[in-house]
Amino acid sequence: MAPSTLTRTPVPDTVAAVRTLYESGATAPLSARVRRLHALRAMLTENESAFEQALWSDLRKSSAEAQLTEISVVMAEINHALRHLRRWARPKRGPVPPTLLPGRARLVPEPLGVVLVIAPWNYPVQLLLSPLTGVLAAGNAAVLKPSELAPETSALVTRLVPHYFSDGAVRVVEGGVPETTELLAQRFDHIVFTGSGTVGRVVMRAAAEHLTPVTLELGGKSPVWFDDDAHLKAVARRLAWAKFTNAGQTCVAPDYVMTTPDRVPALVDALRSAVEEMWGTDPSTSQDYGRIVNDRQFDRLVGYLDGADVQIGGTYDRGERYLAPTVVTVPGTDGRPVVGPDAAPPVLREEIFGPILPIVPVASAEEAVQVINDWDKPLALYVFSSSPRIRRLFEQSTSSGAVVHNAALVHVAATGLPFGGVGPSGMGAYHGSYSWRSFSHEKPVLSMPLWPDALRLVQPPLHGRGVRFVRQLMRRG
Ligand code: NAD
Repeated sequence: MAPSTLTRTPVPDTVAAVRTLYESGATAPLSARVRRLHALRAMLTENESAFEQALWSDLRKSSAEAQLTEISVVMAEINHALRHLRRWARPKRGPVPPTLLPGRARLVPEPLGVVLVIAPWNYPVQLLLSPLTGVLAAGNAAVLKPSELAPETSALVTRLVPHYFSDGAVRVVEGGVPETTELLAQRFDHIVFTGSGTVGRVVMRAAAEHLTPVTLELGGKSPVWFDDDAHLKAVARRLAWAKFTNAGQTCVAPDYVMTTPDRVPALVDALRSAVEEMWGTDPSTSQDYGRIVNDRQFDRLVGYLDGADVQIGGTYDRGERYLAPTVVTVPGTDGRPVVGPDAAPPVLREEIFGPILPIVPVASAEEAVQVINDWDKPLALYVFSSSPRIRRLFEQSTSSGAVVHNAALVHVAATGLPFGGVGPSGMGAYHGSYSWRSFSHEKPVLSMPLWPDALRLVQPPLHGRGVRFVRQLMRRG
């Protein structure tokens, strides 16, 4: 399919139309939210093969991978929201301190308003429609900005959304930097941005103009610790799968592996076998191995191989934008290795976001902890160790968006857990009830009876005994 040729409505008009619809109250009733979640589900199920084709064309994702890593993830979000929506939406009793008795408090969730969702290209369906699920469940209206670097998916969503959301509660603005810049100049009630930290800063600056809150789902270098010799084969399969799925273009892909020098040869051998088992001896012919999104990213990735100590893969075809699953080893250093902008090997300086896995030798798990803490808090941390002490060490001595033991990537599919980063890897979280919290305002409603009038005790003239009594009660909290 060619990119959308629909006549483009000016961006301010699109946002104004969505706001008018929101202000009409059409998105708030529970029945309307349920109807829209059903519409979103129908949009996916009735056009499954169109989504699969678009993902093949944009990223050469096989239909199985499209199902597992995109469509089913969104379906799980929708079904989870439909199952729990009524409970989430119910006002809850709020606590009232003794000083305000016999007042009563409720916590009443309300929608935020018009939410802008800006998506990246690497999981162009999941990262656009999963946030949308929470946005709609919470009773908001939405403007979607798909990634221009996944043009077939962008065009498909642009074509389908008006059919499934014919009242205009969800509208799409296609385009790249100019269109996003124009969108960001409009007032929204919340912005969900998934992408790089660099653009995240652009988004947050623009949002500040309107005091719009943001959820920023960013990236970074997600480290791995490995010391589980007894389960090397299983670990290598999980690691290779997590790293090379979508040709490494996953925000939570393992970025680099730290282990002790004596373990490096065995880990390399096990990773080689794992790659062969999953993608064959020539992964370029595997239906299940993706391609790099564009030439710019391809050239950046191939640049990392210059002078690198390639242990596995390292072959590529620029015409096809194919880069084999690749493992490189990084030479040991006298002191502890540096990861981040000051690292000597270019592959350790920034998020790799491609199918190259560096193995970094470190003296011990304690040194690995220091390496992690020397730089930005990562989006995820993966620990492959059967030692409870080592697991605890990483959990307690580092900070990251999430920690996963014995696997990588899979926490994205844990619908009930919050998904997001911390510090430079992002702010705010979503998925399941965490989307609900992020995209709703939980409004406290306090009702004070006029009688008995306990408030008189704090109104002048302030008598000694009454004030002392209230002061004591207040201090109890
Ligand atoms: P990106 O930041 O380049 O682009 C994301 C979106 O921002 C796109 O829709 C794009 O059109 C828009 N954009 C780009 N430049 C802009 C500008 N100057 N002004 C306004 N808008 C602009 O990110 P990407 O290349 O699409 O994705 C890769 C990055 O996203 C990686 O860092 C990755 O780790 C991160 N990521 C994070 C998650 C997560 O869930 N935390 C998921 C996927 C990707």
